[in-house]
Amino acid sequence: DLTDIAAPVAVAVELPADVGLSRASGLPDGSFANDGQITKRPVRALTLSALAPRAGELLWDIGAGSGSVSVEWCLAGGRAIAFEQHATRVANIAQNIEDFGLSHRMSVIEGKAQTALSDHPLPDAVFIGGGGNAALYEMLFDILPTGTRIVANGVTLETESLLAQLHATHGGDLLRIELAQAAPLGSMRGWQSTRPVVQWSVTR
Ligand code: SAH
Repeated sequence: DLTDIAAPVAVAVELPADVGLSRASGLPDGSFANDGQITKRPVRALTLSALAPRAGELLWDIGAGSGSVSVEWCLAGGRAIAFEQHATRVANIAQNIEDFGLSHRMSVIEGKAQTALSDHPLPDAVFIGGGGNAALYEMLFDILPTGTRIVANGVTLETESLLAQLHATHGGDLLRIELAQAAPLGSMRGWQSTRPVVQWSVTR
């Protein structure tokens, strides 16, 4: 009985406004498997801006933690090798590679970065989020070709003084990132300061 066949009806597929991944760097921290050692969203966005990924470029992410910086580099079209010494963080990085579907362009190497780096193809950019000491920078400046971008974040006084010294020797930009977030203060709200992060960026 043809009268039972309903006329086609246009189905309006209403997607929630926040479906899918943002194209901008600085995804929520909770998007990544992590143990709290993660570059927080606003600082990560500034870090990716300084790293300036281009399609196909290779990143060395030294002291990769959760791998969030590598993941965002790869989402911008790059490839990344994440170096991390802490076994449970290596597992988080592997989880994030899988969750973001990046196994074709991102890998993780467990161990001390200094001993692992030279076994890998030279990068277009290096991010140092942990393990940056004078010996590591000396080695990097030895092996990295001219044109390589280097970005380092530091939160300790010791790293800050090393980065200030490197800035004096090699130039580049030294940025201090000091943010505050509104949080409850009694029955009202107040600014909760986050630890300052010092970021050094230079092109070799
Ligand atoms: N950018 C990361 C957070 C980095 S925390 C993120 O967004 O998740 C710094 C990390 O450096 C820690 O996980 C620590 O285990 C690692 N690390 C410190 N020294 C290292 C070294 N010599 N080699 C490899 N990893 C190192």
